[in-house]
Amino acid sequence: MKKLAVFGNPVAHSLSPTIHQMFAKSCGEIISYTKIECAPASFAQSISDFFLDPQAVGCNITMPFKQEAYRLTQAHCDPYAEYAEAVNTLFYNEKLCGYNTDGIGLVSDLIAQVSSLQGSSVLLIGAGGAARGVVVPLLDAGVKELYISNRTGEKAQRLVEQFSRNEVQAILTDELTSKKFDVVVNCTSASLHNQLPDLGRLNLGNCELVYDMVYGSQPTVFMDYASTNGAPRVSDGLGMLVGQAAEAFYVWTGKRPDTAEVQVALRTG
Ligand code: NDP
Repeated sequence: MKKLAVFGNPVAHSLSPTIHQMFAKSCGEIISYTKIECAPASFAQSISDFFLDPQAVGCNITMPFKQEAYRLTQAHCDPYAEYAEAVNTLFYNEKLCGYNTDGIGLVSDLIAQVSSLQGSSVLLIGAGGAARGVVVPLLDAGVKELYISNRTGEKAQRLVEQFSRNEVQAILTDELTSKKFDVVVNCTSASLHNQLPDLGRLNLGNCELVYDMVYGSQPTVFMDYASTNGAPRVSDGLGMLVGQAAEAFYVWTGKRPDTAEVQVALRTG
């Protein structure tokens, strides 16, 4: 039995236990997977208590602990966690190691929905932790031009400077109208509050895919806006969630679960 968990606050809404139990069943693994809600001050202690159990193999980390998990494992992180400065997966393998699988989750879901990311132009709206975590995975997947636009423009500029890669540029809302993007990804939390980020005069009809990282039982306000403004294909972020979980499952077990059937099961309830 492998003991797994997700740590967050709040964490009651998390789909991770359901997703990982489905993965385990399809891959012939026996796991326990629990939700652990801990107070911000006790995160580090809760993690070390969890891993006292010899059956404890790994855990997922969600908001607001990804940065703290990075600090705990900084000496033993994978490169994507290093770039993101955030960890969403911990694995105990003689020592505690940190991974960030969010970017791999996004890339795998985009690749499933567009013809190719090779040579493509992608717009990220938002410059928070989620945007930061997907920049290098997108470049590694062949994205040629990566633009970042954010409500607070200086944050987008700072993010671009931190990566210091020619392919990554900040863009102002006013400039969006003059560009053609193959994929537009909403990396803001605006949809959680039923709000739309300012898109200026961005032409969504030219894109191959418009993607919102937020997911839920209904299309988000951003997805509705994209559909009514000519976007040929619109997606929520459920596939990213399942994709990042699949990569975490691979870290813990060495097995790659089928993600498509899990997505179908989650969508059909
Ligand atoms: P952060 O709090 O780090 O960043 C939030 C970002 O959203 C900032 O860029 C902020 O802009 C912007 N923003 C918030 N409200 C608005 C608004 N009304 N209009 C315009 N911009 C706004 O959050 P994260 O980056 O960690 O997460 C962002 C979203 O991504 C969350 O909703 C999260 O659920 C989702 N997510 C989904 C995942 C998945 O697996 N599908 C994985 C990870 C995240 P400003 O800088 O101006 O404040």
